[in-house]
Amino acid sequence: MKEYHIDNKFKSSWKKKILSWYFVNKRDLPWRNKENQNFYRIWISEVMLQQTKVTTVIPFFKKFIKKWPTLDDFFNAKLEEILKLWEGLGYYKRAQNLFRAKELLRKKKINISSHSLKKLPGIGEYISCSISAILKDEACAVIDGNIRRILSRVFDLNMNNKKFNSQIKEIATQLTPKNNNGTYCQSLMDLANLICRPKNPKCIICPISFLCKSNGKEIKKKKKQQIPIKLTVAFVVRFENYFLIEKTKENLLQNLFTFPLSEFRKVEEKDSKDFLIKSVSSWMNKYDIKTTYAYVGEVTHKFSHFHLKVLIVKIILPCKLYFNNFEWLTLKKLNQKPVSSMMMKIKNKVK
Ligand code: SF4
Repeated sequence: MKEYHIDNKFKSSWKKKILSWYFVNKRDLPWRNKENQNFYRIWISEVMLQQTKVTTVIPFFKKFIKKWPTLDDFFNAKLEEILKLWEGLGYYKRAQNLFRAKELLRKKKINISSHSLKKLPGIGEYISCSISAILKDEACAVIDGNIRRILSRVFDLNMNNKKFNSQIKEIATQLTPKNNNGTYCQSLMDLANLICRPKNPKCIICPISFLCKSNGKEIKKKKKQQIPIKLTVAFVVRFENYFLIEKTKENLLQNLFTFPLSEFRKVEEKDSKDFLIKSVSSWMNKYDIKTTYAYVGEVTHKFSHFHLKVLIVKIILPCKLYFNNFEWLTLKKLNQKPVSSMMMKIKNKVK
């Protein structure tokens, strides 16, 4: 049974107000330019925009389409090249999925519809609907964090309610217009970003304030979850001009080059020194390294679901040892490889 019934009068004022606001206030974004209105470029922009600010994405998007202007050009891209270009954008899984998806597209063409696009790695409910709405005007409900925020305010929904996601889906579906959905969802996105902002929404100049139950009210916030902190040790092992480097298989940093790391562990603050000593001694024993080490300091890196504190130790080897799972690279060579922002922070710390 429907929990919400939105009448036609509301729907019509909603759409009219949002679209007329958009025609005047539309953001000038590179992927909205006429020459970028094709599947390949919209796909790249949507993937980059996941969990990432528009201002951060713009230079990466421009660099990407300069290097691979068309999908045919992108078919020739190597995973390492994509990861290198992605350096600093974070959430590297997205770059890996782009690679896997283009390998599939190379073998088989796919229809632009929300249903078909979901078969590609890295394309879920939101991206598939968004691409299909923008390019094919498909009337599917496009829902991301921005749209969730604006709808929850307009309908005064409680984000901590178990039914929150199904309520949003129901409301978004009822409000999705049968025609012109591509423009509608981009307008809603701009309104959420420019007016109904996460902090300090500009209710006074909001075109839909008369439809909004939260207009002027204090905005309810979602309960903040405590983000766990994990610890790891980074081993900066050097012999002459060479550094010991691992091409990591660990899921979050897969295929990126990094100094060897110990496993990520949840450790109480008071036990961090103990963790460091034990991790270093077990790692050095494992690789039969008999020399001394120096503690350099620490850096912290934020992943989406935990923060990682990296304790850095430096080891200078008197002779070159050979390892199965690592390689020796000079700094110059390392700079040509894709590395994570966490690795950049460690590099800066040991300089
Ligand atoms: S009136 Fe305020 S809270 Fe409501 S949609 Fe507009 S900006 Fe958001």
